[in-house]
Amino acid sequence: MPLLVMKFGGTSVGDLARIQNAARKVQREVERGYDVIVIVSAMSGKTNELVGWVEQTSPMFDAREYDAVVSSGENVTAGLMALTLQEMDVPARSWQGWQVPILTTSAHSAARFLDIPRENIDAKFAEGFKVAVVAGFQGVSPEGRITTLGRGGSDTTAVAFAAAFGAERCDIYTDVDGIYTTDPRISSKARKLDKIAFEEMLELASLGAKVLQTRSVELAMRYKVRLRVLSSFEDTDESSGTIVCDEEEIMESKVVSGVAYSRDEAKMTLVTIEDRPGIAAAIFGPLAEAGVNVDMIVQNISERDYDDHPGAVTDMTFSCPVNQIPRARKAMEDARAAGIINYDDLAVDTDVAKVSVVGIGMRSHAGVAATMFKALAAENINIKVIATSEIKISVLIDRKYMELAVQALHDAFELEKSA
Ligand code: ADP
Ligand code: ASP
Ligand code: MG
Repeated sequence: MPLLVMKFGGTSVGDLARIQNAARKVQREVERGYDVIVIVSAMSGKTNELVGWVEQTSPMFDAREYDAVVSSGENVTAGLMALTLQEMDVPARSWQGWQVPILTTSAHSAARFLDIPRENIDAKFAEGFKVAVVAGFQGVSPEGRITTLGRGGSDTTAVAFAAAFGAERCDIYTDVDGIYTTDPRISSKARKLDKIAFEEMLELASLGAKVLQTRSVELAMRYKVRLRVLSSFEDTDESSGTIVCDEEEIMESKVVSGVAYSRDEAKMTLVTIEDRPGIAAAIFGPLAEAGVNVDMIVQNISERDYDDHPGAVTDMTFSCPVNQIPRARKAMEDARAAGIINYDDLAVDTDVAKVSVVGIGMRSHAGVAATMFKALAAENINIKVIATSEIKISVLIDRKYMELAVQALHDAFELEKSA
């Protein structure tokens, strides 16, 4: 029997009527002859509420209990979806992660898949069940504890099931009708793409486009899963939405294909550090040990005999998620107290955002950086940090200019027009 994976995000299962609407889409695929694995998120807002309860109860929470609480939103939706399907005479059974079992590492709140054995779900399909409704975002560790996969993780559950069960396609139903050139909630000129390359989507996701969790795109690319994003609120058919696929399948050849943003960035500068071999390791080693996800890094050019510093000195700036600043500050203060590094000042800026342009065409085209910087200059937006890779350019700017920057870049690269 051909098999489909259908994933419904939080807004798409936000109340009982929406669960019914999603269930009707599942029923339609069953009527077309598919066995279906449905992956559900928690109802919208639920996971945030659960995270809040954990933080209120225990600010320095035990990560195992965080996962036990925060994973529960998906359990409710899975049961409700199975019941809704049963009411429509579609034979359906719900599955929590441990029942499948979805085996993961024990990295709580950032677990990775180890294996998804098929036997239990296959046995239920063999009994005549047509739909397995699986709670997204969760698994079980080798120690037998509940784990979660990181925020937005149900996308990754969906792709992992599509790979494990050899699904014909993995359909991600959400509150927009596809993947756009930028977040349609930020720019009214955003244009829906019919197709986007895995590499581009991977960059967009990792640079903040939350329409797909980064890891889901990585898995789809590795296991050649046919991945599609489409609307749960509109009538959809085979040609709806956006397909994420290999570069070779794409006809459109724009140099830049999308603009992404990430709001929750912060920047820290260590002012006046010694410029000597090993200084970067002495700074970033303790940050890594403290679990700080350092993103962009800039080191100033060295200055000699600065004030009362006889040797060469410099400044080091890095960016990281804003909620990791307390940890980063402590790691630096501890390293200074231990004599590993020395600095005159720690300057923290928590009002920054990262805006990036992405496109595989950048590999073979010069001038993207110049166009980007000119567009930002025309809006009087100051660039604080720049980072580039083969297919992206990112800048750190004041957060208050983030939306303006996204719109200016969307215009500068004429993304509203197709190639
Ligand atoms: P779900 O709850 O279905 O998982 P998410 O909120 O995680 O949905 O992701 C969908 C949201 O992603 C959209 O509502 C949209 O605001 C945002 N988004 C950001 N960048 C893009 C983009 N390039 N294309 C489409 N949506 C985007
Ligand atoms: N409910 C989880 C979250 O909000 C997982 C998901 O929806 O993908 O992050
Ligand atoms: Mg999501």
